[in-house]
Amino acid sequence: MRHANPTRGLNRPAFAFKRDRLPNPGEYYHGQGLKLTGGGEWKSAVCPFHNDTKPSLRVRLDSGGFRCMACGAHGGDVLAFHMQRYGLRFFDAAKALGTVEAKR
Ligand SMILES: [Zn+2]
Repeated sequence: MRHANPTRGLNRPAFAFKRDRLPNPGEYYHGQGLKLTGGGEWKSAVCPFHNDTKPSLRVRLDSGGFRCMACGAHGGDVLAFHMQRYGLRFFDAAKALGTVEAKR
C-alpha cells in the first residue's frame, strides 16, 4: 500500500513534515463524518469518494489506510485521504492536518 510521500510536492524547504503529528485515524475519520462499523483490523464505512449506498470503504485504524471496494479509491494514511477528499496537494493537506512546521 502506498503512503503519501513526504518529499513529493513539498518543494518548500523552509518547512518540515511531521508525520507523528498526523491525527489518530479513528478520531480523524470520525471527524470526517464516517461511521466506522465492523470488527477486526478493517472497519467499514460509506465511501465519500463515490455515490455509495452501502459501506464499501474499508479503513484501517492503525495506519489510517483506506480502500474502497466499489470505486477503487485508496491510500495509505489519513493524509492521502485528506488530499483525495478535498483535492489538495500534499503540502496543503499536510498543513491542514497540522503536520507542517516552519524550519528555523
Ligand atoms: Zn468509493
